[in-house]
Amino acid sequence: MRMPHAETLPAGATRGVAVGLFSASRHLLGLDGMPRTTLIEILDAAERDLAHLAADRSPRDVLRDATVVIAMFEDSTRTRVSFQIAAKRLGATASTFSSHGLSLSKGETLRDTLRIFEANGADVIVVRHPSPGAPAYLAGQVESAVINAGDGMHEHPTQGLLDLMTLRQAWAGRFDGRRIAIIGDVKHSRVARSAIFGLTTLGVAVTVAGPTTLLPTHVERLGCTVAATVDEAMEGADAVMALRLQRERMDQGLLPSLAEYTRVWGIDAARVRRMRSDAVVLHPGPVNRGIELAPDVADGERSVILDQVANGVAVRCAVLRRAAGRDG
Ligand code: ASP
Repeated sequence: MRMPHAETLPAGATRGVAVGLFSASRHLLGLDGMPRTTLIEILDAAERDLAHLAADRSPRDVLRDATVVIAMFEDSTRTRVSFQIAAKRLGATASTFSSHGLSLSKGETLRDTLRIFEANGADVIVVRHPSPGAPAYLAGQVESAVINAGDGMHEHPTQGLLDLMTLRQAWAGRFDGRRIAIIGDVKHSRVARSAIFGLTTLGVAVTVAGPTTLLPTHVERLGCTVAATVDEAMEGADAVMALRLQRERMDQGLLPSLAEYTRVWGIDAARVRRMRSDAVVLHPGPVNRGIELAPDVADGERSVILDQVANGVAVRCAVLRRAAGRDG
């Protein structure tokens, strides 16, 4: 089978392309098309995991006989650490690899690499890869359950789930009738795509805003509306999600300057005050402090950035249990 190529899978605005939905299989490839009931089941399971994590720091034995391989073919801090911690807190045997230390550099194919993990007994393989669609391709090649930990500009479903969990906590359990502004580099953001898919399925209105060079063409086809300015997007919103400028994915000068970006699109305290008085501020990290988010906002009382990180471990516990068939 031919490996999906960045140009053939969606960096732009399309929906309904997810294969192997978590509701119908053990793979978690994306939130696009995931039914509301599945989203809620995972969020409820993650709340139970959060309670376990807080109550008892010793490993549980839920995944005692399971092996989890975490394969990172692209840099990762939060996602890798949180999958490692989640696997260990569930009692699984966990192994983590980054592409730097793998035999891919000796010419081994990605498919063969994953089959080595499987032959080593991996029940669940967590994959991050720069090519959109790589986890979906691999899910068709191995018996192990595959979890997408971020594939290029396509999706980052566990980040989307932790964002939903964080918002559900901030919004006292109610999604319907809420509105969130997602600001900045939507085009290169798998985080934004997964968030938009999950949020709109749960009845949240999503407004995006950013430089036109950093918005996917026909972005509204993802189910969101587009505001002309950050102030318009944030006015009266229940939350704002700032996105990192993904300069590593920009192959041309898409911005006049960083200072100009911050002036026009940066989220500072004055802009935060445009939202509802109980609105919250999210960022998937890593934060470019002083560029997309002012430091006093990142660390301010409306920020739920550290809740996102803590919820990330709980979501990954829930997702690992589900992928391993132990979600009871
Ligand atoms: N950590 C997130 C990701 O891997 C967000 C980012 O890198 O900007 O997509």
